[in-house]
Formats: sequence, C-alpha cells, structure tokens
Amino acid sequence: MISLGIRIYGDDILRSESAEVEEFGDELGELIEKMTETMIVEEGVGLAAPQVGVSRRVAVVNPDPQNPDTLLALVNPRILSCSDETDCVEEGCLSVPGIRGKVERPIAIEVEYQDRHGGKHCVRDAGLVSRIIQHEIDHLDGVLFVDRLSFGRKTLVKGRLRDLARKGKRE
Ligand SMILES: [Zn+2]
Repeated sequence: MISLGIRIYGDDILRSESAEVEEFGDELGELIEKMTETMIVEEGVGLAAPQVGVSRRVAVVNPDPQNPDTLLALVNPRILSCSDETDCVEEGCLSVPGIRGKVERPIAIEVEYQDRHGGKHCVRDAGLVSRIIQHEIDHLDGVLFVDRLSFGRKTLVKGRLRDLARKGKRE
C-alpha cells in the first residue's frame, strides 16, 4: 500500500472550498481506493481529498482500523441536521502533525452522501463516527480543527502552527 502524501498546514489547498463531484466514473473509484490506502498507511481515522491535493468533495472514514467493515467513503457529503447536544473531545489531524486539542461539536448528525457510483444514502450517527465525519466535511469547506479550538488553546499552539505553515507552504 502506498500513501499519496499528506498536505500540511500552510498549504493553500487545505484552505480552499472543494468542488462537488459530478462524474462517478473509474477516476473517482481510483481516488477513493488511493485515499483509503493513504489513510491506512498514515494511520488516520479519516481523510479528506484536499489533504492529498485533490480539491473534490470526497472523504473516507475508518473509525475502527481493526475492522475493515467500518470503512466508509462519502462523496458530496452534506449535514442535514445535528443534535443541540454537544461534547468536547480531543482531535488531531494528519495535516496538522504534532498538535491536538479539544473541539466542541454536536454529538449526533444526520448526513446525506453519495457512494462512488452516485447512489444516494443517508446515515445517522453519534459519537466517534459523527465526529470524524464533521471533521472531514470541515476539510471540504477549507476549515481545520485548529480553527475551532478555544481561544486559550489557540494562543498556546500559535507558535507551532507558524512553524508548520513554513514547512507546509508550497511555492
Ligand atoms: Zn483532518
């Protein structure tokens, strides 16, 4: 298995809004396969296309790396509703190595998405899967979990983010 390589904080693609997928052909299937391999090699529980340099609304999630049945590929995912109840859980991101922090998010969500063939699905989830999906959809909108940290935590990680940005920046 091969990693496509992960774009790091400071790379502009992580800050741009990804485009809707309109063609459901072999190319999309191949992208999903490669993203899934990359997520496994990099030991992530989720990965969004811009993290591998592709500005398309595609994400893969892998909430239980020991159990391949939990692998899920989401094309054009959209949150339909979320719970008023929130929780605050520590997150990390392959694109922001070395930094973790607590992020407040709704506990439960209802998400509409398409599969690699264009078929429409709806998933309701709470807990870890819900959190990963929200984190990945943020990526598709150019948002990173560090944007959602508390003011105090943001201040603490500012220097490290600046160092990352210097390395992540592409000419
Ligand atoms: Zn991430």
